[in-house]
Amino acid sequence: MNNKYTGKCLCGAVTYVASGPPIIVAQCHCEECRRLSGTGHTVGAMFLSDSVVLSGKLNEFKYMSEKASEVTKAFCASCGSPIYGTNTRTPDHLTLTLGTMDDATGLKVEVVIFERDRPHWDQLDEDVTSFRTQPDWKPHE
Ligand SMILES: [Zn+2]
Ligand SMILES: [Zn+2]
Repeated sequence: MNNKYTGKCLCGAVTYVASGPPIIVAQCHCEECRRLSGTGHTVGAMFLSDSVVLSGKLNEFKYMSEKASEVTKAFCASCGSPIYGTNTRTPDHLTLTLGTMDDATGLKVEVVIFERDRPHWDQLDEDVTSFRTQPDWKPHE
């Protein structure tokens, strides 16, 4: 099955189309992913770079991984949404952030990495109150 996965950043300036299926969908709790996302993890779908068409202006940030490979994270130059990452350990591949995908039907997390670094608050107790949408809650009411 060869699906098309479309996606965009928060402001809409960056869009992409990926031809799937992805090679793997992974959730990562490493420190860099936590800081990048501002939450406890990222979820990414890896594709062959050749099967992804991106448009819009991206900014990049590069760093060295624990395994001494170079990692590049690319974000929308205007709204900052993380769009994809690459790693010189897996050249010719690109990992799109699942949260920017328009419709990820059929995809699910297949593997969790850097579980060691998972913050305790990134796993919810069953008794946490959930609202389907934004509740009418304000502080000090
Ligand atoms: Zn944007
Ligand atoms: Zn990570």
